[in-house]
Amino acid sequence: MFWRLLSTICSLTSCLNAVRVPGYDYFDDSYYYELKNLLEAPESLHGARGDHPREVNGWGPGLELGQVSGVSVDLEGRPVIFHRGPNVWNFKSFNATHHYQGEDGPIAEDPVLILNPDNGKVVRSWGGGRFLLPHGITVDHHGNTWLTDVALHQVFKFPAEAKAPDLTLGEAKVPGSDDTHLCKPTSVAVAKDGDFFVADGYCNSRILRFAPDGKLKEKFGHFGGEWSDSGLYVPHGVALDEARDTLCVADRENRRVVCIRAGLHHHTFGTPVRTLHPASRARVFDVAIHNGVLVGVSGTAEEGNAGGFTADLSSGEMLGEWGPLQGFRNPHAIAISGDGSALYVAEIGPNRIWKFTVGKTFLPTKM
Ligand code: ZN
Repeated sequence: MFWRLLSTICSLTSCLNAVRVPGYDYFDDSYYYELKNLLEAPESLHGARGDHPREVNGWGPGLELGQVSGVSVDLEGRPVIFHRGPNVWNFKSFNATHHYQGEDGPIAEDPVLILNPDNGKVVRSWGGGRFLLPHGITVDHHGNTWLTDVALHQVFKFPAEAKAPDLTLGEAKVPGSDDTHLCKPTSVAVAKDGDFFVADGYCNSRILRFAPDGKLKEKFGHFGGEWSDSGLYVPHGVALDEARDTLCVADRENRRVVCIRAGLHHHTFGTPVRTLHPASRARVFDVAIHNGVLVGVSGTAEEGNAGGFTADLSSGEMLGEWGPLQGFRNPHAIAISGDGSALYVAEIGPNRIWKFTVGKTFLPTKM
């Protein structure tokens, strides 16, 4: 076992440095990070797809952010984040019927920030004066930006460069569970043909499928813990794998990822595909998918189980867990660049955005 582990470690280029210069101060953080991952990873990780996301040290300096609730990646490979500026979601924000009680008005500063993927600096920002409590952000295949606001109980679609949405779902500040109202919607996933899925959300625990024009087509799920009964408990993030016609949901309070048929080509929406559980059995906050590989973020440092995880969507095999050297505290959202080379994780408390690079993990696999 020891020699197997050692040979695996020494397959890394950084190991050459270790052999040449035996001194701890020589190695940069990436060496320790690789070592830490290898030592903590199950053996199955050491195979062909055992390439963990690697933290980019020092990325994103100088950003002053509110609670960073969402992250996506635009068509140019730039991370786009959605943050709450001075507004904070706390125990006074809502009453028992989910009506917003916060004293904070619309966020004056721009809550949507487009970042330079190389250095994390802000390239452009927009959206000031409109949102109360931002949550999810998704840039779709056509450059539209979809945003959810849990205090407004609405979902918005903004065409690229537009100052106003061309599609709005839900009634402002009015929570509800019928076909025209939402309640603290969390996340949106968009198909190439424009059909889209809304995770709705903190109170209704359902997934809604809409036509491109915003017409409700289908519904899935309800509050509950039994997967056999379509139970969900705070669907907090959604990700779509069109090649596999699969929609995966971060079923947060049930501590699992549930994947169902998206029904893009046949009337199969909601048919169970599989469930995934991070090894730590932590609450799952968000998921993203690229080339049949699912990544997610789960847990909190307070609960002792904050981390990222990777799974093979086809087999359901958990490929491993990962995180930054200093650890996550409250990872809330995750996104993958279109080419699969970069991962971004948004955290709430401390409010920050992480970048990770990814190697062969996201190479195309057999379906
Ligand atoms: Zn949230």
